[in-house]
Amino acid sequence: MIFYPKKYFVNILEISVEFLKQNNIQAILLDIDNTIIDKDNKIIDGLEKWVEKIKGNNIKICILSNTNKKSKAEKISKLIKVPYIFFAKKPLKFGFKKAQKLLKIEDPKNIAVIGDQVLTDVFGANRCKMYSILVKPLQSSDIFVTKFNRTIEKRILKKYFKENNIKQK
Ligand SMILES: [Mg+2]
Repeated sequence: MIFYPKKYFVNILEISVEFLKQNNIQAILLDIDNTIIDKDNKIIDGLEKWVEKIKGNNIKICILSNTNKKSKAEKISKLIKVPYIFFAKKPLKFGFKKAQKLLKIEDPKNIAVIGDQVLTDVFGANRCKMYSILVKPLQSSDIFVTKFNRTIEKRILKKYFKENNIKQK
């Protein structure tokens, strides 16, 4: 199913190096809003440590965000020392492709996309044949378009969780 994530985690910090290695992941495309920062633009505790561990195990990271605020993406990029692409217009393919080129990963299967939205992060990743990882959104202070997407997302996820026996926390 094109709207189903390959894997679901409640929190990004639960994603281990071991899990990534097992799935042959060489690089990560990282969403910002509701994945690593909450509605007050606060970065989740432990993120820097998590990033260091990932990078220390030779897995590359690039921020891939739909935000139109360059300064926001840039600030996080500087903090965790990874490149960024903003205004990516996920689920369109070009941002994903641009990131793939930047990270020099030949096979998209070796790239994991981590995000909190089915219709942008997961759908876009699946379209590009990347490994889609859905995380539970940190908080919902979503903009209008996102609110609309969330209602569709709810229906998709209800089926997904049921079929995969995932109990929602
Ligand atoms: Mg998001």
